[in-house]
Amino acid sequence: MSAGFALVLVAAAAVVAWILVEPFLRARRRARQRARTLDEADRMFLRRRVPVFVRMPKPLQERLEGLTLVFLAEKEFIGCQGITVTPHMKLAIAAQACLLVLGRDEHVYDAMRSILVYPGQFVVPGEWHDEHGVVTEEERVLAGEAWDVSRIILSWEDVKASGRGPDAYNVVIHEFAHYLDHEAGAFQQASVLAGELESLRAAVDQDEDTLLDPYAAEDEAEFFAVTSEVFFEQPGQLQRCHPRIYDALAGFYRLDPAAWS
Ligand SMILES: [Zn+2]
Repeated sequence: MSAGFALVLVAAAAVVAWILVEPFLRARRRARQRARTLDEADRMFLRRRVPVFVRMPKPLQERLEGLTLVFLAEKEFIGCQGITVTPHMKLAIAAQACLLVLGRDEHVYDAMRSILVYPGQFVVPGEWHDEHGVVTEEERVLAGEAWDVSRIILSWEDVKASGRGPDAYNVVIHEFAHYLDHEAGAFQQASVLAGELESLRAAVDQDEDTLLDPYAAEDEAEFFAVTSEVFFEQPGQLQRCHPRIYDALAGFYRLDPAAWS
């Protein structure tokens, strides 16, 4: 055997060993991080900043703290256009992102690497396809975007406005719901949601007042992201007005936020 071939064999064996061992090491690392809790100052910050945290039962609060610490240890936060991402900004984003995986075992957005934070809404290039197939270049102004499996982009102005107004607006929940939907095919799993989307479209066409933001009628992906915001921000109202949507999301997220105090 030539030295070159032996080297290739050793390298291949090392790669295979890494593939086999890495999940085990990650699970052990995560278990260590999850066992920790936030310090009191950070917990107080979360209580003020993320009201849903206060409503959930104590065991879920502890689990959310652990998942948040894993998220903070694993993901990189990148400030864009000169913004500095402070530890509290990271905490606010991480905790709301982890809210969505609180009921799902061992899932902490495995493929995600980084969260890009802009000071305010940002412009991305895009294309508009009309019904004749004509493509027009157009820029879009966004509060957030689930860019691909490894990146999420957020406007800090919109993160600050999330989870505290009278409506269900929450850009962190919205974008991370897109991410999960894309990864797990959540909308497709819950067949009842297709019928509910059609009902919403009919209500929007009739100019009826709806609990759900009419933007949810845009397409399946927006329907899932917008209803996810309402599921966590106004769970009681969603359960009363749209019990089938509530039950479908409770099944997907494996959580029952309407039962939280
Ligand atoms: Zn969206």
